[in-house]
Amino acid sequence: MANFGFSIKKTRSFNLSQADLRKADRLLEEVPSYRLCIGCGGCTATCSARQFTDFDIRKVHNTFRRGQYEKLADELRKCMLCGKCTLVCPRGVNLRSLIINMRQLLTPSHETF
Ligand code: SF4
Ligand code: SF4
Repeated sequence: MANFGFSIKKTRSFNLSQADLRKADRLLEEVPSYRLCIGCGGCTATCSARQFTDFDIRKVHNTFRRGQYEKLADELRKCMLCGKCTLVCPRGVNLRSLIINMRQLLTPSHETF
């Protein structure tokens, strides 16, 4: 194996091919603009909730997209749905709708997935 001068910690390793992506796929169906996200972090940088908490909306939606849903429902409660992130997103991602849909998909009534 090539030595790149760094290694990935085991706790950061993630096998995407083994992830359950059904909720993530459903999210992309409900909010198609999310396909345009380039992960720039503009949403997190301007987030109103981040001024008062450790909430990181980019981390949350990236984690959701990888099918790692644990603890995200609690995280999403920190969002105030002000919509500022939607206004600043350079790719036109409808983040407010994304957040509402993530919340809905994480409710027990969607546990049939
Ligand atoms: S601002 Fe838009 S493009 Fe950038 S990370 Fe957030 S959702 Fe993705
Ligand atoms: S809608 Fe939520 S995630 Fe977006 S800027 Fe407001 S508090 Fe932050």
